[in-house]
This record gives sequence, C-alpha cells and structure tokens, in this order.
Amino acid sequence: MLRLSQLKNAVTLIRKNNAKYYGTQLSSINPHEKYDVIVIGGGHAGTEACSAAARMGAKTLLLTHKFNTIGEMSCNPSFGGIGKGHLMREIDALDGVCARCCDISGVQYKVLNRRKGPAVWGPRAQIDRKLYKQAVQNELLNTPNLDIFCTSVEDLLLNETDVKDGDASKALKRCHGVLLKDGTKITARAVIITTGTFLRGQINIGLDIRPAGRIGDEPAIGLAQSLEALKFRMGRLKTGTPPRIKKDTIDFSKLSEQLGDSPPVPFSFMNDRVWIDAKDQLPCHLTYTPPSINEIITKNLHVNYHVTQDANGPRYCPSIESKILRFGHKTHQIWLEPEGFDSDLIYPNGLSCTLPEELQWQLVRSLPGLENAQITRPGYGVTYDYVDPREVYATLETKKVNGLFLAGQINGTTGYEEAASQGILAGANAAAVVANEEPLTLSRTEAYIGVLVDDLTQLGTTEPYRMFTSRAEFRLLLRPDNADFRLTEKGFKMGLVSKKRYEHMCESRERMEKAIAGLKSIRKSTTEWREQLGNEKTRSQAFSKSAYDMLSFTSDNVEVQQIANLHPEILGWVKDDRIVCDRIKIEAMYEHAIELQAKAIEEVRQDEGLLIPSDIDYSADSLSMSAEEREKLARIEPQTIAAASRIQGITPSTIVRLLRYVKRKNQYAASC
Ligand code: FAD
Repeated sequence: MLRLSQLKNAVTLIRKNNAKYYGTQLSSINPHEKYDVIVIGGGHAGTEACSAAARMGAKTLLLTHKFNTIGEMSCNPSFGGIGKGHLMREIDALDGVCARCCDISGVQYKVLNRRKGPAVWGPRAQIDRKLYKQAVQNELLNTPNLDIFCTSVEDLLLNETDVKDGDASKALKRCHGVLLKDGTKITARAVIITTGTFLRGQINIGLDIRPAGRIGDEPAIGLAQSLEALKFRMGRLKTGTPPRIKKDTIDFSKLSEQLGDSPPVPFSFMNDRVWIDAKDQLPCHLTYTPPSINEIITKNLHVNYHVTQDANGPRYCPSIESKILRFGHKTHQIWLEPEGFDSDLIYPNGLSCTLPEELQWQLVRSLPGLENAQITRPGYGVTYDYVDPREVYATLETKKVNGLFLAGQINGTTGYEEAASQGILAGANAAAVVANEEPLTLSRTEAYIGVLVDDLTQLGTTEPYRMFTSRAEFRLLLRPDNADFRLTEKGFKMGLVSKKRYEHMCESRERMEKAIAGLKSIRKSTTEWREQLGNEKTRSQAFSKSAYDMLSFTSDNVEVQQIANLHPEILGWVKDDRIVCDRIKIEAMYEHAIELQAKAIEEVRQDEGLLIPSDIDYSADSLSMSAEEREKLARIEPQTIAAASRIQGITPSTIVRLLRYVKRKNQYAASC
C-alpha cells in the first residue's frame, strides 16, 4: 500500500518523465521485428489491451496516432458510476490500468447510489484529464514486453491458409500483421483493433461537417475499408460532447455545491486511500436548464445537422437536443464539473450539443449562474462506423478472421469503462492465442464484463451500449466490493495478474474468512445483543443469533467494530482494518438476499417456455416496468418468457414480475 506522500511524489515524477515524449515518435520501428500482439489505438480499450497482452508475456506493440493522446478522455472528465464503477473494479481485479491511474489523478471521489444497497453502489471520480493520461502513459512506458510507436495503421495483413474445424468449405482468413501509413508492414500473430470513434469518423457543429475521429484527430478511413472488404456487418452510430466553459466566467455563488466523500474511496483493491486528502477535493456545482432553451433548440433544428442524421445516439447519455425533443417541458440538471486542478475549464455534464457555435453561446448563457459564461470550445458531434458485435466470439476474436480481435467503441459500446473492459479481455485472449493457451472467458454469473460481452455478442446492438446494474441478473453476487474474490485468482492462473496482487487478495480473503468464523462462533440471545449493543430496534427474542447474523439486521446497523469491542479476544485484531470490516458487513447483509435471488432465477429457468398471452397489456401498473421496457415489449411482442428475457434492456427483475403476472392471469382464467 502506498502512503499519501509516495502517491504525490509518483504523480510529480510521472509529469516530469512523460514531458520529454510529447510530439515524438518514441523510437524508430524495425519492420523485421516479429511481434506476438499488435494493438491499434491508444484509447481506453487499447491501453488495457496492450498492457494485458504484455503482462501475459506476449511481445506487444501499441500503434497509435499520437503519444500525447494515449489515455485521452475524449468526453467527460470522470470515471466510474453506477455499473461503470463495477466494471472498473473488475478491471482492477484483473490487474488492469484504469483504476490505479484514477487513484492518482482524481479531483473528487464519490460513491453514487449510497442510499441503495452496496450491490449497486457506484464508485465514481472526477478526474484531472492531464494527470490521468500521464499516469496511463507512465504505466505503459514502464511495462516490460511493450513497444509504442506513433503512426496510423491503414490496412491489415491477411492470408487464407487456415481452415476452420478441418472443414475446407469454411476457409478462414488469418490476420498476421498491419500495414502502416508509410507502407511499412509489421507482422504479428494477433492484432487487436481498438479505434474508438475513428472509423470513418465525421465531426460536426451546426451545418459544418468534417472528417475526424474526434476534434483535432484524423479519422481512420483505410481500416474501415479493410473491415468492409472483409464483409463484416457494420453500422453507424453517433455521440456528442458539450462545450467547455471558462471557469472564472461562471457565478458559482448562485449554484448548489456537491462535495466529494470523506474519506474518498479508492477504485483499486491495491490502495487503501487515494492520492489527495478529502479536504483538497474540488467541488462540482449544479444548475438547471430554463424553459427558454426549448425554443433555441426547436427553432434551429434546420441548422443542426447532427440531430437529423440517420444514426443512433446514446439513449442514456443523450444530447440536450434529444432531451428537449423527447421531454420538452421538463427541466434538466446540468452538473458543472472541474476538468482538473490546474485547468480553467468546466465541463457542463448534460449539455452535449451540436448547434452552431453562436447558438451554443445563447444556450449556455440562458443557464442560471452562466449568464456571462464564455465558451472556450464549442460542443460537437461525431458519427462513426462500428462493427456488429455478433461478428466476435466471447473472447472478442472475430469469427471471420483468426487472430483478429476487436475491442471498445468499435464493438458498439460507449464509455471509457466499457471500452477498457473489452480491452483487457481482448489483450489477455490475444496473448493466450499466441501462447496456445486457454482463453479468458467470463460468464454472466462471474462478472459485469461477462454481462457486457454476452449482451453484445449474443444480441448485438443498434445504439451505443452502456453498462447498468440492471443488466445483470446476478447483481447481488457481482458487487464492486468482491470483484477481487471473483476474478483475481482466475487472472493469476493465466498469467494476467501479478503475484503481488494475487497474494494481496489471498491475504484479504484469509482475514475475512478468519473474522467471519470468529463472528459466527459468538452466539447470544437477541435480548443479550440488544442490551450489549444498545440497539433498541432489535426485538427481544429468546433464541440465539450469531454475531454474523446480527450484522445483517439492516434496521440496527450493527458494525463489525462494535462486536470486536465486545469480544476483543476473538476479533480485536480486525477492528482497525476498515476495508475488511466493511466487506464483512456487506457479505453478511447479502447472504439471505442472494439465496432469494437464486430461487427467482431458478423460477424463471423452469418456466421460460411459458407463453405470454397475445392480449397482454404492458401498461398494467402491477407490472412496474420502465417506459423503455413497456415500449420494447409492446413493439416486439415476445411469445414466451425466454424470448422476452432476450430483449436488450429488459431487466431480470422485470422478467420475474412478468412471469408471475402471466401465471396469475392463467390461474385466474382457469378458475373462471
Ligand atoms: P478511443 O478512446 O476513441 O481511442 C481510439 C484510439 O485509436 C485513439 O487513440 C486513436 O488515435 C487511435 N486510432 C484510431 N484509428 C487509428 C489508426 N488507424 N491507427 C492508429 N491509431 C488509431 N462516452 C460516454 O460514455 N459518454 C459520452 O457522452 C461520450 N461522448 C463522446 C463524445 C465524443 C465527441 C467522443 C469522441 C467520444 C465520446 N464518448 C462518450 C465515448 C468515449 O470517448 C469512448 O467510449 C471511449 O473513449 C472509447 O474508447 P476506445 O478505446 O474504444 O476508443
């Protein structure tokens, strides 16, 4: 574990070390060098992919446009959140890069959803953009087996010698390298494409449209053509980013403030604290859209090319135009988020837009607190090609081309964390293919990464896919607090996770097991517990309960430390270990609920062939569904429970309610 001063020194050192690499090619490339794995793209998928492959011992080359955009956060200056924080903990449990880098680059740390159970808490942080990418770059520069070269990849090197499953009619292609912009060919045994929003990317503001992967970056045309020539099913998606605002032109005195947690909770299992003190965190501020913005948006649709484009945008992170067009009369929250410690920019989260620049000024200045605000860079939209993710296996290797993997936004996802999750999986699997070893696959019962990959590869997607806790049917098991117990051993066995991390996880597990055994060994009547813990809400009952059982009574909120104080001879050793105490408490709280969840899953499994009546009314209140679920079910009209459960966006709990509703209706009909 690092101390605060060590973390701060590490950040200073990273800044100094990396400065010398900006604008350079790093090193000249030797075309005769034979790599095991080539990763194209140094975004969030690419950085995890190259780090994972190199950690597994593969000789790896990262090819990306520019060194100083490695680890670039193209849009929001934040990581984590509900569902996304879960992914980060899983990436960290597999020794990935992003969680550790967030622990040394955050400006504000906050666990979201605290009012709900710990299974759906979402660790999140506002991040200093510059510090984050410097931390990632430093990590990669110090990764053994990894070379980095800055250039554009234009094509794939392919041959057709492979035959799938011994069947000559299924002749496959194999990818054995890449062709660079200057004509150089570099060979490798596996190639991972992580080109994000760059495939035939086009950005636009108002009616201005230009080719770019994101602002200031060229698009990837050659690679898009290569994938098209290989007959991959492809589509087009879009997303957007808000204008950036000059901090000292905002009147924060009019706005409510949101502070970070005290103490801030780290993302990485390897850290027991983050690099800053609670008091040094920067605040965020909240403002709201006034009704006047409806007019600015609706009257100017004819000069807003992006909104009229025939490509789907992110449903859960929509532009302000989409929000106004869908829910015009409503007020929308706009969070004003700092971009970094030494940045004078504010990111207005929720104000992503593509209006002409002068109208963006009007829009911004209509918001309370921003009457005199100055825009430093207008918001813009990007439209790009993606590959139908049903073209890849659960290992993220493509079905059409052996040795070719796709990860990140190219597979139809949106978000840094979704990209990073796929990156680590693709990196590990490319290295496994090269070493002829078993691949890493994660099921829906093991990890959110498993849910993400299963959703994508089985169902495909027609809109940018982002992770939510509601997508996971086993979410009481897949908690952010236990990701290391779920995944670290698996990662260690295949060489993806370091010995240091594995031993750290084993030590935590032993401490927890020992403490839980101690808690289970202490039994008393609830009357005694009530007296000794001073818990008035505990009902006096004669039968005995273990100390572990007492932790699960949410009404009393008994903490491990309280029991340790009563029984120091058994538990005195654990009471100063805040992390272990918190984890035990969560385990105890969920024990019963997990049993119930397993029963509900079994119930659905047994009756998944049940027919849904064709006259079912999805607007019935007793079904308690979201508007999206009602709309999808009514439109798709699934015939069975199994078919309903395969519709993307229909949550497992909705399926259980639907099943019970149909059964009740059938029973009622039979009794009439
Ligand atoms: P990226 O981070 O895009 O990285 C791609 C990398 O590939 C880049 O380094 C690029 O230089 C490199 N590259 C591309 N082509 C080549 C080539 N031919 N040769 C060499 N290198 C190449 N996410 C959200 O969750 N919410 C949002 O609101 C949101 N808005 C966004 C708005 C904009 C304008 C943009 C651009 C992105 C937005 N995102 C948003 C998406 C988020 O940035 C991505 O999900 C995430 O960065 C994807 O990671 P990635 O690794 O797949 O690709």
